[in-house]
Amino acid sequence: MLAYAKPTCCIVCGTSLGPGPRGVEDKVYGVSGHWNLVRCQNADCGALLLDHDLTAAEIASFYASYSTHAPPVLAATGVKYLYRLALQQIWHDRLGYPPEQAGPARILGRLLGLVPYFRAEAASRLFWLPHKPGGTVIEIGFGNSQGMAFLREAGWQVRGVEFDAVCISSAKALGFEAVQGDFASGLFDEGSADAVVASHAIEHVPDPGAFMAEAHRVLRPGGYLVLRTPNAASRDARRSGAAWRGLEVPRHLTIHTPASLAALARHAGFDSVKVLGTPLGGFIAQQSAELRQGQKPSPVQGRKTLLYNLAEALRAVVSNGSCDEIVLIAAKGKCTATAPAGQTMLATSPQLAEARPLR
Ligand SMILES: [Zn+2]
Repeated sequence: MLAYAKPTCCIVCGTSLGPGPRGVEDKVYGVSGHWNLVRCQNADCGALLLDHDLTAAEIASFYASYSTHAPPVLAATGVKYLYRLALQQIWHDRLGYPPEQAGPARILGRLLGLVPYFRAEAASRLFWLPHKPGGTVIEIGFGNSQGMAFLREAGWQVRGVEFDAVCISSAKALGFEAVQGDFASGLFDEGSADAVVASHAIEHVPDPGAFMAEAHRVLRPGGYLVLRTPNAASRDARRSGAAWRGLEVPRHLTIHTPASLAALARHAGFDSVKVLGTPLGGFIAQQSAELRQGQKPSPVQGRKTLLYNLAEALRAVVSNGSCDEIVLIAAKGKCTATAPAGQTMLATSPQLAEARPLR
């Protein structure tokens, strides 16, 4: 039985499909084969879809050498510890989290908070979620637990879901409630979470519509869905074609544009939907440049990566929709008297207030 069927029309908007990048190889994790994608012909959607039939066993085999097992890092000494505290000061100033830091961390946090890149870096660690005392969050595809570690540090009650058995046991060893399996299969109770978040997961999911519908079901009224994912409409995606790092064949099954991601969220029942480009996709830009030159992608660290991060940060300011990474921030339900939490979150979130809607 197929887990993912070759699409006959766009799974987001139903429009017919045209050719996308063809004959793409997996230069990142070395899965063999040449892979084709198709593109939705609707100019207002433009999603990219993998054009192959796949069984669950085949999909599982694509992850044999996929590495998400490095332990999470919460720096406890030196400059990196100061930086960690400074970003917590930004959580305090921009997203309402206690406590305020003291001394150098507060000063550094205030200074870094003036720079959009560092505001995004701080906010992304908490998936742009404003403070909600006692709030519960589910992270889907938590990998090495780094995201859950930041969320727990900020006071969230964190649960996670993952396919990978090694990730599950590492998360449990760190004291997290971790469930193994497919999020869309109904693992969590209806209305049991204040937030559902995922970083670079939705593009791996065979049925992203079912994934979003399940997120809507498990959220309480006023709750938030936050998803980070590559942007199929980015400048790099357009110029790199088959060499774009965001394709990541054959693990990425559906690669969204801002428009297709927003449409999918609205279709799942989310009322307030925003998509913005983040300045955090420098690694995609760097590795796309290497792939364009026929090189194997190099690790994202050091001076070279810093330059790409700076370029991406500039792009986020001057041409937000052309960033290599986008984030969807969607709320369940309108801000009514029955959903005061949602009303508060929307009203008090500077990140939402700052967000410029994309077309
Ligand atoms: Zn479409």
